[in-house]
Amino acid sequence: MIFSQVVLAPADPILGLTDTFKADPRQDKVNLGVGIYKDEAGQTPVLQSVKKAEAILLEQEKTKNYLGIEGVQTYNRVVQELLFGEGSELVASGRAATAQAPGGTGALRIAAEFLLRNTPSRTIWVSNPTWANHQNIFETAGLTVKEFGYYNASAHDIDFDGMMTDLANAQAGDIILLHGCCHNPTGIDLTLAQWDLVANLCADKQLVPLFDFAYQGFGTGIEEDAAGLRLVASKVPELLVANSFSKNFGLYNERIGAVTVVAHNADEAVRAFSQVKRTIRANYSNPPAHGALIVSTILSDAALKALWVQELTEMRERIALMRTLFVQSLKDEGVTQDFSFISRQNGMFSFSGLNKSQVARLKDEFGVYIVGSGRISVAGMTKANMPAICKAIAQVV
Ligand code: PMP
Repeated sequence: MIFSQVVLAPADPILGLTDTFKADPRQDKVNLGVGIYKDEAGQTPVLQSVKKAEAILLEQEKTKNYLGIEGVQTYNRVVQELLFGEGSELVASGRAATAQAPGGTGALRIAAEFLLRNTPSRTIWVSNPTWANHQNIFETAGLTVKEFGYYNASAHDIDFDGMMTDLANAQAGDIILLHGCCHNPTGIDLTLAQWDLVANLCADKQLVPLFDFAYQGFGTGIEEDAAGLRLVASKVPELLVANSFSKNFGLYNERIGAVTVVAHNADEAVRAFSQVKRTIRANYSNPPAHGALIVSTILSDAALKALWVQELTEMRERIALMRTLFVQSLKDEGVTQDFSFISRQNGMFSFSGLNKSQVARLKDEFGVYIVGSGRISVAGMTKANMPAICKAIAQVV
């Protein structure tokens, strides 16, 4: 048999953990592995703004005809507005071209294939550490992945000097993957001054930034979280953005994101975009409509947009509250190790500093699931599960 030669693939480090979690019969188990937002009741409900948009779509949608290769055009326009801001000069000049994509992952894959086929370098630099799927996506697409330093484990802070030293070795045309905000897995973002230095480095060395922007609005705010991207975009002639609405619209299973190419001028943007469309055509021909129609319906309607902003603010503020509560509850449980850095980090994740054996004990003895690297999804914490989480951590540190 031909397939008898096929070897069993290892389980995905994050999604595999969810499978183990689901099979765990313990009632009080807690999943802090995968990045899914939970509300105070431990649920991941559909946002009200999304429900309202879906009601409108149910009423008004007239066809399930194919979309164009690039997806819903109004959607692509509102994506550009979110990324670059209302009235952006870059958008007005036609330098940006956006195609709807199946989630942030799909957008990254399209970006990778576009870069592989159309730019001279096959090398992409990613932070160490980075989201576990990055290397997988880029290598599968055919790029060579190199790492730059990012994290200072003893200081629980950024290793910016290490980052700049490593990136000094990048060659003209190399691609640099940057997390727009809420760095996954560390929760540590660049300051604006650091973004400025990275932008200068990219401009000087002719490096192409690829922004992975999966958490806009989960850091400090919708506009604030885009500040790094906008600063870099003001200084470099060319870049790409892969953004996702899985988290900030709670549209995880709709698979909705976008890939945006920014070129030096409108003419080059048209040519680059034609190659992006060619890549899409060869992968899945054209995207599904529902997620894009939800997002464009919400963002094109002032009242629905205001409701979404309010719901996103609630999510962001609840996570921030969990960060403070987590640090305090660990203290209350008698943990003397300093975890205060967790309340200074952004977004859904924190790098706890817990080691592999501590992580294994948390799972095996206490039913608390976190990723082997020690990454904790703070967004999965609630007031109700916090005592159990902190009691378990107090036992293993
Ligand atoms: N990039 C990062 C940094 C992420 O954390 C995620 C989601 N975990 C993605 C991209 C992919 O998002 P999506 O689910 O929309 O494919």
